Amino acid sequence: MKMMTTDANSKLLPLTDAVTSSPAPLDGKRLLNDLTRKELEVWCVAQGAQKFRADQIRRWIYGKRVNDFEAMTDVPAPLRRQLAEQFVIFSSRIVRRQTSQIDGTEKLLLRLHDGEHVECVLMKEDDRRTICLSTQVGCGMGCVFCASGLQGFTRNLSTGEILEQVLHLDRLLPPLERITNVVVMGMGEPLANLPNLLRALESLEEKGGLGMSTRRITISTVGLPEKIRDLAKVDKSYNLAVSLHAPNEELRSELVPMNAKVGLERVLQAADEYFELTGRRVTYEYCVLRDRNDSAAEARQLAALLRGRNAHVNLIPMNAVSGLPYTDPFAERVREFTQILEQGGVTTTVRKRKGADIDAACGQLRLRAEAEA
Ligand code: SAH
Repeated sequence: MKMMTTDANSKLLPLTDAVTSSPAPLDGKRLLNDLTRKELEVWCVAQGAQKFRADQIRRWIYGKRVNDFEAMTDVPAPLRRQLAEQFVIFSSRIVRRQTSQIDGTEKLLLRLHDGEHVECVLMKEDDRRTICLSTQVGCGMGCVFCASGLQGFTRNLSTGEILEQVLHLDRLLPPLERITNVVVMGMGEPLANLPNLLRALESLEEKGGLGMSTRRITISTVGLPEKIRDLAKVDKSYNLAVSLHAPNEELRSELVPMNAKVGLERVLQAADEYFELTGRRVTYEYCVLRDRNDSAAEARQLAALLRGRNAHVNLIPMNAVSGLPYTDPFAERVREFTQILEQGGVTTTVRKRKGADIDAACGQLRLRAEAEA
């Protein structure tokens, strides 16, 4: 297959014409990854096979990166035939692949079986291989600086569609490299698709999956209090990141319209409960927008809000999205903002910009591809 390279202007180039032409048809078949490990075991038994075959099949897909049932040589031939008759491993195709010339970040645009598009990203830093997953086509939260919400919400991704992103990204790595961390920070609001997301994450952790520890998985949310409580009750050590973006009610409702319905205090309360129940320190994401939420007064207000909460702040200088009236902050402002938070007793990190040359911010590539189509 001809691989796409990104030119200096990071123009979008198709992988191959054949790849872009059509999504994988399901032909009445099911997506294998929609099944959890247990469900696959039940299916194997229903076919007259033994239950351990499920782990064998899953190891071929996750461990050995095989894309075809025929290649699963230690699975009995009749079971392989039944698998091929009833399931597909991939229902999506890579239609764009962009590689950052700056830091090697890779971004894929996937076309789903119904023609919709989602994005996913692979970031490399030292020994870490972090992937960023989408959970929905579009997003209904409407954050004013985010590209994903510009066209509204279309639909939830299925468990298998979430996992397929993992498979596509994992196959970009050399044979001995493995995905080490997962962040659910791509397109969509993860907690608005919680059941499908939880099944997908469970599948990754289970035997035969990537053997991923929950501590290496971070779920980012706009802040849906009831869903945060539901997640806390799941009793897994997922890291929770809450997208705050403003230190007071008025500004937050302006930047995160969802806030008008929920209210800042309820979001913070639910996050506090998450910490109490799970013992996992909550991260607050703060997308820094030039002259909109980056003043010293706002930094002081944020410090006062979070002091004593066992919170961590992750400042994300905005990735500019064309057509939106917001832009990235001056570096000096971000430094000052960080200092005020630290002096106020709140530990703060500034997210390094990854893939700045490839539209790596949430939803940007899909927007651009659709505008060019
Ligand atoms: N809906 C979830 C997860 C997806 S967005 C959430 O709101 O957290 C993941 C993170 O990227 C959020 O913190 C979001 O605010 C941030 N983000 C969205 N658009 C951005 C942009 N243009 N520049 C920088 N960060 C952005």
